[in-house]
Parts: sequence; C-alpha cells; structure tokens
Amino acid sequence: MIFANPAGAPELACDECGCRWFDRRTDRCYECGAAVAQEAKEAFRRAVDDWQARRRGFDGKV
Ligand SMILES: [Zn+2]
Repeated sequence: MIFANPAGAPELACDECGCRWFDRRTDRCYECGAAVAQEAKEAFRRAVDDWQARRRGFDGKV
C-alpha cells in the first residue's frame, strides 16, 4: 500500500502488515516477510514522480 507521510511524500508500506521496513536486497518486508509486488513498486515510483512534480509546481520552478 502507498500512503503519504506528514511531509506529503509517498511512502511504500507492506500490503500484509502495513509496516514500512523492507529488505532492499530481497524486496521483502522485515516484519512479516511478504514480498513486495512489482505493481506496488511501480505504483510507488509513479506516486513519487507525481509528488515531485507537484512540489516543483508549488515552488514555481516548473
Ligand atoms: Zn509486512
């Protein structure tokens, strides 16, 4: 799942347990060991791109 942190930046969290800690070598959740779905990683990248684009807009640097 993807949610926004207090700064508004997207964060990727485990679909199974909701924790935000992943082993980056294996793309598995530290808490429950669930694998991160490829779709989830792609959706997260898009969310980050969108967020960065919005931030540039707010800063007037588009
Ligand atoms: Zn988990």
